[in-house]
Amino acid sequence: MLNDDWKPSETSAIPLYKQIAQFIKEKISSGEWTIGTKLPTQREFAEILEVNRSTVITALEDLKAEGLIEGKNSGGTVVVNNTWSLLNNSRTPKWEGYIERGIYKPNLSTIQMINKLEFKNGIIRLGTGEVSPSLYPKQAMKKILHKVSNNLESMGYEQPKGSIKLRGAISEYVKKFGIKTSPEAVLIVSGSLQALQLLSMGILPKASTIITEKPSYLKSLHIFQSEGMKLKGIGMDEHGINVNELRNSINKSTKLLYTIPTFHNPTGILQTEERRDEVLNLCREKRLPIIEDDAYRELWLEEKPPMPLKSKDKDGMVLYIGTVSKCLAAGMRIGWIVGPEAVIDRLADIKMQADYGSSSISQAVLSEFIESGLYEKYIEKLRNNLVVRRNITIEILEKYFKHIAQWNVPKGGFYIWLKLKKHISIDLLFKMCCEEGILINPGSIYDFVKNSNIRISYSYADIKELESALKRLSEIVIEITART
Ligand code: PMP
Repeated sequence: MLNDDWKPSETSAIPLYKQIAQFIKEKISSGEWTIGTKLPTQREFAEILEVNRSTVITALEDLKAEGLIEGKNSGGTVVVNNTWSLLNNSRTPKWEGYIERGIYKPNLSTIQMINKLEFKNGIIRLGTGEVSPSLYPKQAMKKILHKVSNNLESMGYEQPKGSIKLRGAISEYVKKFGIKTSPEAVLIVSGSLQALQLLSMGILPKASTIITEKPSYLKSLHIFQSEGMKLKGIGMDEHGINVNELRNSINKSTKLLYTIPTFHNPTGILQTEERRDEVLNLCREKRLPIIEDDAYRELWLEEKPPMPLKSKDKDGMVLYIGTVSKCLAAGMRIGWIVGPEAVIDRLADIKMQADYGSSSISQAVLSEFIESGLYEKYIEKLRNNLVVRRNITIEILEKYFKHIAQWNVPKGGFYIWLKLKKHISIDLLFKMCCEEGILINPGSIYDFVKNSNIRISYSYADIKELESALKRLSEIVIEITART
């Protein structure tokens, strides 16, 4: 709602509070902030506009006096009028009603906050599941972009399943993991998230139940629920999803298993080969299709993980999803799905209706990156860096969290699933951390039940900041525990 683009001018002859009131008025009169829009809090205004809270209060009081905004008992200040509607007998559509009734469910409020705060200046991101900007292969990418720009003949739409060059490169690339596929059974998507969107829209009836691990990355999203489906969580142990519980949960409405067997998000668990076989056998027996989300496969640290479920799939029951977001560049928005051709054709048809294909530039860049061999080389280097980061983070945890938490030592991926020994309000912890410029991913956003976990990522923050922020996090945990 507010970003860093505008700040009142200290040197202007107009008082700061008047500049702020004028700024808000413009937002209202342009229709950007319609009637019913909840304004940022006084503190948020003060922080982002870099003024005293009293200046914000004066500006808001002026707007209240003009009848443009109102404080609500439920908390917060909302827009209640605009000059245009005063003159025109309020013909502005009631957007808040439209917004509330929209079919797609909104993000959890914690996730909405994370999405915003990630871009706040100076914030330390302890939970971000992305490679640190300091590890981005700038020189290699520069080389590839140069080559691609020289060879680019056009920038038209690509084929419905994506550029044939990239699909060829992906079908070659996944051979490394024992997956045999022709480019015809590969669909290029705008990040693996889109693969999930297309699946939720394209192959499942409304009242389906999707089974997944408990906790799961999938629970932090509303992809299937927005289509009228349910998610059911199945517990895990250190070897992966619990197969007995899975067996007992499958019923007529169960239509899919969504699983992250390799360096699971958020727990970091690596499913063993034996457990993979058990899951596959059970799903085969029950004829339950599987979405295997393999976003973290390449990020093994000391030892390669077992091959994907898809590599043993002789019956076309596994839909395999991959992405470059975790290894290389989330902003490229490129992922892929490999599956039976009929399913891929169906998803490609929906994708053509959704966005006519993923960016042709991103596709050209990625095929070149993979085919040049630079991708492989870069990932090797990345792994070495991640080993160092993982080790340092574990040392920091030993130093500050020994008495207050337990954790796993991940064999790959980005995440440490930190479990606090005493139950405290994670919402309060999240809030207090935010106030101190530390952003955490509370475990509750991934879970089906309340928990006392935090997903710590060792891949993103600067190493020095990792230490200072984790130290402070431990102090805040101790403070809250003492109060509880
Ligand atoms: N799957 C998993 C398991 C993830 O962790 C993420 C990103 N957090 C995604 C899918 C989505 O990634 P993208 O759409 O960027 O490929």
